[in-house]
Amino acid sequence: MDPRHIQMLLASAGYYKGAIDGDLGPLSRAAALTIEAHAGVHRVAWPWPRRMIAAAQAVLDAQGHEPGLIDGFWGHNTQEALTSWLSVQAGTVATVVRRSVPDSAIVGPQREWPRQSEMVAVFGPAGGPRCTAGRVSLPIPFIIAWNRSETITRFSCHELVAEPLTAIYADAVRHYGRAQFEELDLHIWGGCFNHRKMRGGSALSTHAYGIAVDHDPENNQLRWGRDRARMAQPAYDAWWRIVEARGAVSLGRVANFDWMHLQFARP
Ligand SMILES: [Zn+2]
Repeated sequence: MDPRHIQMLLASAGYYKGAIDGDLGPLSRAAALTIEAHAGVHRVAWPWPRRMIAAAQAVLDAQGHEPGLIDGFWGHNTQEALTSWLSVQAGTVATVVRRSVPDSAIVGPQREWPRQSEMVAVFGPAGGPRCTAGRVSLPIPFIIAWNRSETITRFSCHELVAEPLTAIYADAVRHYGRAQFEELDLHIWGGCFNHRKMRGGSALSTHAYGIAVDHDPENNQLRWGRDRARMAQPAYDAWWRIVEARGAVSLGRVANFDWMHLQFARP
């Protein structure tokens, strides 16, 4: 996170008139306080760095860039929202190249799940109660990617995918052992349910249905292909075989982007 981006966001919304110098001093803090006052929230319990990020997230959210929860943590969804915002400032678009996937690339148990175009019929409306009614129990504590001091032992997802997701993690920890599973950073959890649009598109994301999970986003960034993404390396072959055996699809494996991501829908 570059503090100048926070100042640029505050300035773009008219809250900040100072230099874009990366010094989040009194002028920047005053801008954040104004944003809090307008939203009717006062984040006095949060340290200033977290409050400043929350203020930037509020601007991104107000301008339609979907940073996710306004929680004051700079995770991959906030980063992608910034990419989208910066692209608009530059007169371009935060595109994501999505290759079409031949039907023949999707095999076995994956065919039992709907196509992305059929998600509503099977999963119900995006953001509906079913999208967070499932509970995944984790065999070991996972670390939250955007707030590494916090761990979880379960998370919410769509009610139809809780069982296969729970099985994927149990299978994978059994296969690798806890030490290697953690060495591969598969326990760095990048989130599941998130009511937002697909990045670089207008359709709703599979995350808006609670049927997708991200892992280790930092080392598997959205636009990276197998030349850069860590989860494209051979050490992860067993992980992906386990994922696919339970019916989930890796966008990395079938379309070579978004290697952090798995989903229970055919692209
Ligand atoms: Zn994802």
